[in-house]
Amino acid sequence: MTTIAANLQTVRERIAHACTDAGRDVTEVTLLTVSKTFGPDAVREAHAAGATAFGENYIQEAVEKQALLGDLDAEWHCIGPIQSNKTRLVASHFDWAQTVDRLKIAQRLSEQRPAELPPLNVCIQVNIDGGPNKSGVAPQEALELARAVLALPRLRLRGLMSLPEPAEGFAAQRAVHERARELFGELRLQGLPLDTLSMGMTEDLEAAIHAGSTMVRVGTAIFGRRDKP
Ligand SMILES: *Cc1c(COP(=O)(O)O)cnc(C)c1O
Repeated sequence: MTTIAANLQTVRERIAHACTDAGRDVTEVTLLTVSKTFGPDAVREAHAAGATAFGENYIQEAVEKQALLGDLDAEWHCIGPIQSNKTRLVASHFDWAQTVDRLKIAQRLSEQRPAELPPLNVCIQVNIDGGPNKSGVAPQEALELARAVLALPRLRLRGLMSLPEPAEGFAAQRAVHERARELFGELRLQGLPLDTLSMGMTEDLEAAIHAGSTMVRVGTAIFGRRDKP
């Protein structure tokens, strides 16, 4: 078994174990394999070991990589910041955009989504811990943005994504993720058809699963340390 395959296996076991601990069914949590900064060969290796959904932060890098991987049946998620001048690339090269935090970006993605592709799956990124310099809509603005996204014809609103500051220890990690889960629950009570709560990474996936995550985004534990931050 290759290192990447063995790492993937370990991550799957961590997810399964956390689900059991949390009294959840393992099918409720999907794994997004975060391949940013790693090349096409690494993606191929992960795909051969069963990974089917890949997360990328840097849009130009992702598009170049995808061009070399066109033969793979893979789903691509944009999990990095989306500037206005990159919306066309995201709309035409990705299956999901998880980092929508402004209506203007959502509108451009909807307008630019090619007619031959299904609607782009979208998560609203929420700044759940209130970091001042961070992407993500403030929690109290999430409902309004979600409603606006829901009305856009070429987008399919799926849920919320959060990327809190690293917290030390299970209890602190879980407390932050619980806030996202509460917001997710409130939005669903308001009638929004959300099925995805994207949170949890290499360091805190167990805490995120306990708090209700339905998608963990894992890079380091699968591919190893990145050179670039
Ligand atoms: C890099 C990144 C991840 C993966 O983080 P790891 O700690 O390497 O597992 C997940 N989500 C986002 C938004 C990222 O930028």
